[in-house]
Amino acid sequence: MAEQRYSRQRQAILEAVKSSHAHPTAEMVHQAIRAKMPSISLGTVYRNLKVLSANGEIKPLYGDANNLHYDGRCDDHPHLVCTHCHQVYDMPDEWVKRLGPLDEVSTRHEIDFVDITFYGVCEHCRTNKTKEVEFS
Ligand SMILES: [Zn+2]
Ligand SMILES: [Zn+2]
Repeated sequence: MAEQRYSRQRQAILEAVKSSHAHPTAEMVHQAIRAKMPSISLGTVYRNLKVLSANGEIKPLYGDANNLHYDGRCDDHPHLVCTHCHQVYDMPDEWVKRLGPLDEVSTRHEIDFVDITFYGVCEHCRTNKTKEVEFS
């Protein structure tokens, strides 16, 4: 019985990450599913996110261990991390495709995947920044 409850929680957590484009942290997932599952604890969300990423169903991204962002998209694609609001955005992957297949990369190491991250100011924060300058 307990097993069934766990899998239902895990399913809800998986759906929350997959349906979000915000690359949510455990806390964000917790907030999102609490409406449906009021009794679910933050610890449960943390544990299940770890299991789901170990299973390859979601992808762990940036942040320290306690504040990791998770991605519902498991294909290789670049991200933009906003240095102002710390939101993680998906970036178009045309540029990555232009880099060519990994086996053409000359190295003695074995490469599993590419992880490209851009850092900058997101569209939303740029708009707010412009406004601040205009007002002063
Ligand atoms: Zn931002
Ligand atoms: Zn992403």
